[in-house]
Amino acid sequence: MTVPQPLQLLAPLSGVLVPLDHVPDPVFANRVIGDGLCIDPTSQTLCAPLAGVVSGLQASGHAITITHEGGAQILLHIGLDTVNLAGKGFNALVDKDQRVEAGQALIEFDADHIAVHARSLMTLMLVVSAEPFSMLTGDSAKVVGGQPLLELGHVGLADDAPVNEGEALVSQPISLPNANGLHARPAAVFAQAAKGFKADIRLHRQQDSANGKSLVAIMAMQPALGDVLTISATGEDAAAAIETLAELLADGCGESVAPVAVSAPAIEAAPVAKSSAMSLQGVCASAGSALGQVVQVVERKLEIAEAAGDPRAELQTLDRALAGALAALQKLRDEAASEAQEEIFKAHQELLEDPSLLEQARLLINQGKSAAFAWNSVTEATAELFKASGNRFLAERALDLADVGQRVLKLMLDVQDSAWELPDQAILVAEQLTPSQTAALDTSKVVGFATVGGGATSHVAILARALGLPAVCGLPAEVLALANGTRVLLDADKGELHLDPDPVSIEQLQAEREQRTLRRQRDLEQASLAATTRDGHRFEVTANIASLAEAEQAIELGGEGVGLLRSEFLYLERSSAPSQDEQAATYSAIARAMGPERNLVVRTLDVGGDKPLAYVTMEAEANPFLGMRGVRLCLERPQLLREQFRAILASCALARLHIMLPMVSQLSELRLARQILEEEAASLGLTTLPKLGIMIEVPSAALMADVFAPEVDFFSIGTNDLTQYTLAMDRDHPRLASQADSFHPSVLRLIATTVKAAHDHGKWVGVCGAMASEPLAVPLLLGLGVDELSASVPLIPAIKAAIRDVELRDCEAIARHALTLESAGQVRETLLSRRPSPSTLSLVSES
Ligand code: PEP
Ligand code: MG
Repeated sequence: MTVPQPLQLLAPLSGVLVPLDHVPDPVFANRVIGDGLCIDPTSQTLCAPLAGVVSGLQASGHAITITHEGGAQILLHIGLDTVNLAGKGFNALVDKDQRVEAGQALIEFDADHIAVHARSLMTLMLVVSAEPFSMLTGDSAKVVGGQPLLELGHVGLADDAPVNEGEALVSQPISLPNANGLHARPAAVFAQAAKGFKADIRLHRQQDSANGKSLVAIMAMQPALGDVLTISATGEDAAAAIETLAELLADGCGESVAPVAVSAPAIEAAPVAKSSAMSLQGVCASAGSALGQVVQVVERKLEIAEAAGDPRAELQTLDRALAGALAALQKLRDEAASEAQEEIFKAHQELLEDPSLLEQARLLINQGKSAAFAWNSVTEATAELFKASGNRFLAERALDLADVGQRVLKLMLDVQDSAWELPDQAILVAEQLTPSQTAALDTSKVVGFATVGGGATSHVAILARALGLPAVCGLPAEVLALANGTRVLLDADKGELHLDPDPVSIEQLQAEREQRTLRRQRDLEQASLAATTRDGHRFEVTANIASLAEAEQAIELGGEGVGLLRSEFLYLERSSAPSQDEQAATYSAIARAMGPERNLVVRTLDVGGDKPLAYVTMEAEANPFLGMRGVRLCLERPQLLREQFRAILASCALARLHIMLPMVSQLSELRLARQILEEEAASLGLTTLPKLGIMIEVPSAALMADVFAPEVDFFSIGTNDLTQYTLAMDRDHPRLASQADSFHPSVLRLIATTVKAAHDHGKWVGVCGAMASEPLAVPLLLGLGVDELSASVPLIPAIKAAIRDVELRDCEAIARHALTLESAGQVRETLLSRRPSPSTLSLVSES
């Protein structure tokens, strides 16, 4: 009979030992991949610490994994962030799947090159298979390559080794209760427990079976939630092993699980799809990715007494709390990290001054209710009304109201918010995160947000973008059941939260993040250069803005004008319309910032429907997106439009002024708006009109672009609305967000139709929807023939760089091909497949 043996591992290098905790990379220091040790090397050849098979070898040659026949798996990683060196300085001496002996040379490396070009030379040796180990070096920090370095305990047996003789005992079938299957942690618990028995132990799922003492073998089998498993044991303590391990498996191997019967359900019991068990799908609210640990954010319920004795005292309590909240919000505004954040707290202040809320609260107080009860009742009831309105904009404001309501309530009840004790790399998980919760965040600790509620336009999304943190909204409610501390990988770009990230994904993510940083630096350095393709075609890259500050920032980042000034910012979240003078002052300031050489495209008011104005009475609509919005609303209230035209016309001489009408669906709308513009210009004594164009964001306008083209000076394609109306998918619908994709060939065909019509009449076409801010879309849009891309300000350098990276003739071929494809997914795949690989990019950025 073979008994599990301890296994000695040799030092893979000579050098000095560094405690893993001191490694300046949280993935290693926090033992995300596994426990082990770190050596600051003095030699330059990495040798095998044990005999085994090369089960992993990075193409860049900086990391290698050896798997011992007993299942132990050791990862050797040379240097930190060395993946970015794209193989330079490394020479692998072995191949993947090759058998190697202990002490055999694996990789030669050029220490001088790595020391200069990477973050650190520190080399890691990690026990990925999670066996416990003890050091053999005593107190000495020095290690000599090839000398025994550590001893692994309880190394299992070869998966197929025939060992114990005799008849196998088999457990009752067990339905696996772990939500995420037997992933690394519970599998390690099971394997560890199995190693405590002398018997040979195997785990079975129908025809598959794995050595129950091998973490690697168990994980390779990928048992998922609901899989029906049996355990077999052969040997002297087989019965005890079966009893212990069956109970362990049924109890979740250390994970908390919903109770399930130990006896078997039918074998056909439908297992949950593995992909859905391992990751949760939401939508991207702020791009990027992060590896971290779950921190559940839960607001505590406050105790509120309903009745109060003295209404006068209660009214004073309310007033004091309101004043305190206003002051606190002012402080938050003063310290806001961005204009967007400042705007949110300004809106909160306005809510606190809302006469209707205050009136209702005071009425309740005068009826004998406590100030806290009265305030809470009115804010909760109003928030519910907002939520029930079916209007996305109002529904999102419900969260603001609840947030500001809590702020005042806490002041009345004298409840202090205890400072959050956040661990490092916290990923905040919540039903909803409120602006107040996210305002004072320690961004050295928080690395991302994952919420059930919210959408790409919610305040949490705006704040996440302002803080530069990745965020995913619209996740299933299961996310709220994740235990604090659970390690997760937030891939906001794909809208995914991975619950059990494997070392390869983690490493990939880190590499991608590094690449992105390098790329961003390069793009910023070159932001002021023209956006000219490699074959010499120049394109204009302008900015989507909503304020003077953004206009100024756009110029700093290489913006060549403004392709879309969303004028709504002047009108929203206030109780009366801005005066003509106020509007004129703002447009003129922006026009002055642009100067006479740059285009300034001012879009007339695009409100109504989903963006109501408090001071313009509008009937509730069953389908706001199909209702009175954009130019329709303005033509119905011509006074609003006349005033805005006059205010815009005041800046005629200051920049190359363009006026653009949103949501045009009929020719008559364009003609009527032009007539009003001409009348207002004449009344101001202007003889030349600014250029007048329309947004192409309704399919009817795209399909009839040839009819519109002779009557406009330009088109700008609003891909956000054009996509939602073409595919009949609400652009903010959390469950449709991934399908409402502007890369859909139907949208591309409408863009192509628009471009052809415009060019046939000598007019230019821009794109100002979010698609123009996606570097991946650049070859497609250039190839479809658009003349200008108007991007969100921070993305201007990346869009210009993407233009400089391509040849127009290639883009045209890509666009022709894309128009023949069947789905947005196919279009994206085509574009991704022709993108330079990360290693190429890293070389480009280094050169
Ligand atoms: C669009 O619809 O693409 C667009 C730019 O307009 P908005 O996003 O402001 O509706
Ligand atoms: Mg639009």
